[in-house]
Order: sequence, then C-alpha cells, then structure tokens
Amino acid sequence: MDLSIVIPLYNEDESLRELTEWIHKVVTDNNISYEIVFIDDGSNDNSWQIIEQLSSEKYNISAVKFRRNYGKAAGLQSGFTVAKGDVVITMDADLQDSPDEIPELFDLIKNKGFDVISGWKKKRYDPILSKNLPSKLFNFAARVMSGIKLHDFNCGLKSYRSSVVKSIEIYGDMHRYIPILAKNAGFKKIGEKIVIHQKRKYGITKYGMSRFVNGFLDLISVTFMTKFAKKPMHFFGLLGSLSFFVGFGILVYFSISKIFFQLYNMTDRPLFYFGLLSLLFGTQLFLTGFVSEIVSRSSSDRNDYIIEKEIKF
Ligand code: UDP
Ligand code: MG
Repeated sequence: MDLSIVIPLYNEDESLRELTEWIHKVVTDNNISYEIVFIDDGSNDNSWQIIEQLSSEKYNISAVKFRRNYGKAAGLQSGFTVAKGDVVITMDADLQDSPDEIPELFDLIKNKGFDVISGWKKKRYDPILSKNLPSKLFNFAARVMSGIKLHDFNCGLKSYRSSVVKSIEIYGDMHRYIPILAKNAGFKKIGEKIVIHQKRKYGITKYGMSRFVNGFLDLISVTFMTKFAKKPMHFFGLLGSLSFFVGFGILVYFSISKIFFQLYNMTDRPLFYFGLLSLLFGTQLFLTGFVSEIVSRSSSDRNDYIIEKEIKF
C-alpha cells in the first residue's frame, strides 16, 4: 500500500463524509493506493456511526475508537501503529487542511527522498489574536530551541516516511514536535511545503490559548529529553558542580579570612549568604542528577537506538 492518511477526530461528524469523498477522489485520480485511518478520540456525537457507514461503502477505511477523549497525540500514535502505507500523511478532520495537497506531499516523500514534510499554513484563516500571533512567537521559540527551520510546527498536515512514525512515540501534547523527535531519531531530510488553509467549516476548535502555554512547556521538555534524557547527569552534574564549587570557594575565602585575618562580621556580607546558597543548591542539583540517572538506567527504553539496515549471516 502506498499511502495511509491518519486522521484524529473529536466530534467532527459534519465533515467526515465530505472529507472522505474528497480524499478518495484525489488519491484515486492520482493512482495512489490508500487507506484512511480514522481515530475517533472518544467523540460523543455521530462521528463513529458515520465512519462505520463510510467503511461499508467503497472507501478504504481502517478505524479505531477510544473509549474516552485522550487528545490528538494519542490519536496520532494509535493511527501510526495501525498505518500500513509506505507514506503516512496526517491531517485534521475539520476540512481546514485540503486533501488537494496530498499528491504533492506524497511525492515529496516517495520520490524526492524526504523523510518528513511539514505543512506551512502561510496564509491562515484563524482569529489573529488568539491564534496567529501566539503561534508566530511559539514557532520562533521552537525554531531556536530545536534548530529545525520550520515555520509552522502546529500544522496538522504533515507527511512522513513510514519508518519515521514507526520509530518514534508521541504522547501528551507532543504531536507538535514530531519533526524534532524525527530529527533526534536520525532522520535528516526534513522539509516544508506551503499548504492551503481554510476556515473551519463545521464544528468548533478544540483548542484555545492554553495550547501555547502548554506547547511552550512541552517544547522545554522535548528539548531537554532529546538532549539529556539518556544522560541526565551531564546536565545536572555540570550545573551542580559549578554551583557547588562557586559556593565552596566563597566559604573557603571566608574561613581563611576568619582564621587568619580576624574577620568577625562575615554574616553582614551578602556574599556569605550567596556562597551558602550556592553550595546547597549545587548539592541538590547533583543529587537530582544521581536520582535521574538511576531512573533513566532502569527505564525499559534506555537503549532506544534504531536500526536502519542490517546484514544477517
Ligand atoms: N482532535 C482530537 N482530539 C482532541 C482534540 C482535537 O482528535 O482532543 C482533533 C480534531 O478533531 C481535529 C484535529 O485534532 O481533527 C485538530 O483540532 P482543531 O481543529 O480543533 O484544532 P485547530 O485547527 O483549531 O488548531
Ligand atoms: Mg482545525
């Protein structure tokens, strides 16, 4: 199978039929063999009934329904395990992403050698204040912290080589950072394509401003995890030692002053307290490093290398 289109959805019954017909038309016109993988993220409208109905018709549909709402990342992750195509495209169910983009997204992976192509909604049709501006800031931070030059990490429309989605695992709200996880897993050709974006036609958005706050916190965790999760001591140990020795140095200085130069009023000196704090803080960081190291040693995926090729005798 050429292509799996993974679509997480939560209460989107109004758009599913239109979306399915449109995708079916575009991909069959381009002679791409496909499946649509719907993940019903615990909808409480008629989404699942419509999916059942569609799957009994001419469309190639695989689908999963969660018992409750788990969030978009869980939906995508479950879709990735189900997907059988050589190329996996993710898109939103609300018709904001256009199925007309599929052939080109597919081609970039299949024939142009890209591992990941991220959609870029250059012209957006979302409210300026609640979405566009925060989104710009957010993307800027993500670019700086990850070193990946993408304009639109949030875009739901992305295209992957199958091995990419099979070698990463997303949870929480981490769906925005798949390109970062992919880069960390050794996939180098990460590109971008400007895509058409449309106003939401049916239903309502499932996210508000909170996404940017949470998104930013997630960005910090992702950056930390990709750099230090397997060697926490390199992070905590370095900071801890620095802080410890600064504090230690200061206290040695005060001790010498007191013993040899009769300095009596050292508690009047702000530096004294700084040294004390610095010493304590350093010790704490260092111990945190030890504990994290033990946690990461005992984690089941402490060896998370991915084999690209293999010769067997
Ligand atoms: N979605 C989901 N689970 C959730 C929230 C959203 O599967 O808990 C789906 C939603 O149905 C849609 C996609 O994720 O297909 C993007 O959500 P939405 O359109 O609300 O986000 P926006 O376009 O406003 O960023
Ligand atoms: Mg949307």
